[in-house]
Amino acid sequence: MKTRKRRIKQYTDKRFAYFSDVTELVLDEHHAQISKWGIQTHSMFEWLAYTTEELGELAKAISEQEYRGGSKEDVIKEAIQVATLSLKIAEMMRESHNENS
Ligand SMILES: [Mg+2]
Repeated sequence: MKTRKRRIKQYTDKRFAYFSDVTELVLDEHHAQISKWGIQTHSMFEWLAYTTEELGELAKAISEQEYRGGSKEDVIKEAIQVATLSLKIAEMMRESHNENS
């Protein structure tokens, strides 16, 4: 019996050709988070937990988009949420590093 392999779409790194577009989405997400939760203070492990939760949602959105007709908009939204939290971690750690040096 011959099986047909499903071709999975391939994506090529755009080398930040749309950097200003995605950073604008990150800023929009930052403002949405502040509106929803206010300015937050957490341990790094808690920040990591929230980022990991968003990463799980990104994994689900990619699976839904690839196999069940989910939307590309949901993938973008979840990726931006991961990016926003990741950048906040980098910013907080960078500030903490600069204070200690
Ligand atoms: Mg999410």
